[in-house]
Amino acid sequence: MTHRSTELRLDETPGEECGVFGVYAPGQDAAHIISFGLFALQHRGQESAGIAASNGQTTTVFKDMGLVSQVFDETKLAALPGHLGIGHTRYSTSGSTIWENAQPAYRHIEQTGIALAHNGNLTNTAELAAGLEDDSSATDSELMLNAIAAHLDDGRSDGRQLEQALTKVLPQLEGAFSLVVMDQGHLVGARDPHGYRPLCLGSLPEGGWVLASETAALDLVGATFVRDVEAGEMVVIDAGGVRSLQPFGEVDPRLCVFEFVYFARPDSNLYGQNVHGARQRMGSRLAAEAPVEADVVVPVPESGIPAAQGFSAASGIPYADGLVKNRYVGRTFIEPTQMLRDRGIRLKLNPIPENLRGRRIVLVDDSIVRGSTTRQLVRMVREAGAAEVHLRISSPPYRWPCHYGMDTGDRSRLLAAQLTVEEIEQFLDADSLAYLSLEGLEESAGGTRLGFCNACLSGRYPTPVSEAADKFMLEQRQ
Ligand code: SF4
Repeated sequence: MTHRSTELRLDETPGEECGVFGVYAPGQDAAHIISFGLFALQHRGQESAGIAASNGQTTTVFKDMGLVSQVFDETKLAALPGHLGIGHTRYSTSGSTIWENAQPAYRHIEQTGIALAHNGNLTNTAELAAGLEDDSSATDSELMLNAIAAHLDDGRSDGRQLEQALTKVLPQLEGAFSLVVMDQGHLVGARDPHGYRPLCLGSLPEGGWVLASETAALDLVGATFVRDVEAGEMVVIDAGGVRSLQPFGEVDPRLCVFEFVYFARPDSNLYGQNVHGARQRMGSRLAAEAPVEADVVVPVPESGIPAAQGFSAASGIPYADGLVKNRYVGRTFIEPTQMLRDRGIRLKLNPIPENLRGRRIVLVDDSIVRGSTTRQLVRMVREAGAAEVHLRISSPPYRWPCHYGMDTGDRSRLLAAQLTVEEIEQFLDADSLAYLSLEGLEESAGGTRLGFCNACLSGRYPTPVSEAADKFMLEQRQ
């Protein structure tokens, strides 16, 4: 079965990543718990959803294109028995948007079923594939499963074959990976040595453990936050509890700073910081760095709301809703007609002229990636009667492509890679434009001592990357 997505993407915000979730809960129904966890992680990927579950004897996997609510119902969940499982919501950063690439990836290897779900993007897939003589894997996840399979048949009989294979395979991987992996008796979570993508551990009220991309997913299943899985850490969960292993040599935490800007849910905590609070601080700092005389602060919903609140509080300029978001049209599998395409941004946002007319507006958004949506937005606010439009962006100019799991395309598609800030201001037809400084962003997110990746904003990549690491590299090998 192959479904090609015809989804309509109306925004130009960075492509989301993926959400991963894992459960080890003796005596409980893992698939139901996972489905709720995936609902909480839906914002990280809307292209496909999947669950693998095991009762200790067999492993069952179900995955399909679409939202969690479209993929799973009671009947499908009932067909996924067991106390142990993993789940995934996918946004394709490696491989096309087709059913075969949905996760969890699964292989039956050496008498056991192994399933893997991955958030991030590997940057050494060509070397890995060459080493494994693998010319068929279409995604990072399949390649990782093949690497695990190559190390699994070592004759161990203590039930720790998966754990041992992972300690050999994980150090060979480069790039970004937060993983949940399972066999029929163990749940494993791991983060790469830079910890680009988040992963946390929670405990369930009736016993058992949960791994999740974001803390907000723990809340939804009633789990208590225990701690973050650390950068470079591997946790193994089984009948004996939770064990921590350190399979990597050097560890250098570099959590993606864009998790704070855009990706993560506002009700999640990262590095112990509430994301909503961090976004408000970004807005406050922006008001201090780039003040402007204006009548009202208006957010671009929903991503610009906390920063606009912070800007308003710090500047004393009143906050007002000037744009309304249609929450249900952002991603649809309906092919738009040309007439609808021409409606452009109005399918997603519509102005409230009463709050804009005759006023000097500070329009606050979290980022500008390609720019044409922002340009339409400024025009729409002007047409609604705004006297002036001052754009304030709560992150620095986005100038370099991400190789660690965010889908923005190459530099030619990044507005700030092509134009200076003054040229962008003209292109967008704004009365003024200012971005938050990198220092201001990282201090708002808790301080540089915590360790952040900011490569897309600074050009300083924590690991060597090449254009060969681009999104469809694996497919082009085929
Ligand atoms: Fe995040 Fe940017 Fe680093 Fe990618 S390059 S991981 S988006 S900070």
